[in-house]
Amino acid sequence: MAKFKRILLKLSGESLMGEQGYGIDENRLSDYAEQIKRVSEMGVQIGIVIGGGNIFRGLSGSKKGFDRVKGDQMGMLATVINALALSSALNAIDVKAKVLTAIRMEPIGEFYSKDRALELLQKGFVTIFAAGTGCPYFTTDTGSSLRGIEIEADVMMKGTRVDGIYTADPEKDPSATKFDDISYNEILERNLKVMDLSATVLCRDNNLPIYVFNMDVYGNLEKVLSGDAIGTYVHP
Ligand code: UDP
Repeated sequence: MAKFKRILLKLSGESLMGEQGYGIDENRLSDYAEQIKRVSEMGVQIGIVIGGGNIFRGLSGSKKGFDRVKGDQMGMLATVINALALSSALNAIDVKAKVLTAIRMEPIGEFYSKDRALELLQKGFVTIFAAGTGCPYFTTDTGSSLRGIEIEADVMMKGTRVDGIYTADPEKDPSATKFDDISYNEILERNLKVMDLSATVLCRDNNLPIYVFNMDVYGNLEKVLSGDAIGTYVHP
C-alpha cells in the first residue's frame, strides 16, 4: 500500500540535463520515467509539474537584456518541451500520460482545468502540468504548489539533487545537517532556500505537506511512497 493516494511530483528542469550542461539527458529522462511507472503501478495518482531551467530561465534572460515577461514566456515554453519529452518517455514504456498546459496551445497539449485534471488522474493517466502557472514572475515551484492544491493532492513531492532540507546548502557547507522533518514557518524563519517564498507560503496556507527528496537516486520515489524514512517532510 502506498503512503499517499494522489501526489503532485515536482521535477526540476535542471536535473533533467544530467551530466550535460544543457538540454535533456536521455538516461536521466528514462530513469525518471521508470521511477514514475513503478509508483503508478502501486496505484498512486500522479500529477507532475516540471521545470525548465535546463533550457531557459526568465531571470537569467533579463540579466542578458531580454524583456522579463518575454523571458518568462520563453521559460514557460521550456517547461512544455520538457513535459512533452517526459510524456513520450512514459508512453514508450506503456504508461498512459497526458500533457495539460496553463496556456492554450492545442494540439501540443490540452488546456488545463481542474475538472479535466481530476478526470485524467482518476482514469490512471500520469498528468503533466506544463507552462507553470501560465503567468510571468512565477516559478514552477509556485506552479506545483498551485496545481498540488487544486488537484487536492495528499502531498507535494519535490524531487531535487540533494536528499532533503539542510541547515545550510550541503554542496557549499560541509557542516550542514539534514532535517527529517520541519515546519513551514521554520523554513521561513531560517530563510532556507528550499523553494521560493511564495511557493512555501502557498503550501502552508493551504495545508499541502511537502516531501523533499533526492529524485536522482533510482528508486527513491518508490521508497518515499512505501513509507521509508528518507528525505525531509514539511508540515504545519
Ligand atoms: N516560469 C514563469 N511562470 C511560471 C513558471 C515558470 O514565468 O509559472 C518561467 C520562469 O522564467 C522560470 C522558467 O519558466 O525561470 C523555468 O522554470 P523554473 O525556473 O521554475 O524551472 P526549474 O528551476 O525547476 O528548472
